Amino acid sequence: MPELPEVETARRLIADRALGRRIVGVDDADTFVCRPHTPGQLRDALVGRALTAACRRGKTIWCPTSGIGRSATPGPDLGVLLGMGGRIVVTSADGRAFEGGGPRRRDAQPRKPEWNRFALEFADGGSLVLFDKRRLGRVRLDPDLDALGPDAQQVTEEEFRNLIMKGTTAVKARLLDQSKIAGIGNLLADEILWKARVAPAAPVNRLRRQDADRLYRALQSAVRSAITRGGVHTGDVIPARHPGGTCPRCGAEMKHGTVGGRSTWWCSREQAT
Ligand SMILES: [Zn+2]
Repeated sequence: MPELPEVETARRLIADRALGRRIVGVDDADTFVCRPHTPGQLRDALVGRALTAACRRGKTIWCPTSGIGRSATPGPDLGVLLGMGGRIVVTSADGRAFEGGGPRRRDAQPRKPEWNRFALEFADGGSLVLFDKRRLGRVRLDPDLDALGPDAQQVTEEEFRNLIMKGTTAVKARLLDQSKIAGIGNLLADEILWKARVAPAAPVNRLRRQDADRLYRALQSAVRSAITRGGVHTGDVIPARHPGGTCPRCGAEMKHGTVGGRSTWWCSREQAT
């Protein structure tokens, strides 16, 4: 499922290719993806405007919109969640398509038009589409960001330490808690814990300050590298997450269990509890 790095590639795509283009049509007929809005509500709110920025916190993207015509009064924010495998496809005025979001390998070909769950049509003839075979993405106006902690890419070392070390929960569960730090999913959490050599089930109040600082550095480097390489599935330990897998660093057997309710793999030697 898309985690912060995949969502960031979708955000950058919108920022690079979809801003400032006047919206002349909106396909918001999918009442599940566009809930709680009714058909036509998103269209009425967005036609005549343009996206003016593409922002992200954790896995939530939102785009502020311009006023209509000469009006300086901005419109609502357009919120987009990619769900489990959604991708953003932006088409230029000359018909070239650019994509960002979840890994391409999840897309079955040929694509069916009904998997386009939401679309903006621009005055120049291009479009922005949420392509989402599994239909778990979400589009809504003015999404509520209050429930989210600071973004995992932007959290400071001190904030991270304060958010990560309080309580008795397993450190992996804490990393996955979007209300504490937003954007880390299952694969990224395993990669961060492995890089930092921290046991996923370790209670957070047993972490030493140097453990928290190592986790912070591991988070930063894992996110950076996943964005550069094209997604969390490119992480160093991800290919070893299978029965018989061995640690790519020390060669020890990888262990498997459920931590924080999620399937978890860790190095039996370097991440022992
Ligand atoms: Zn190891």
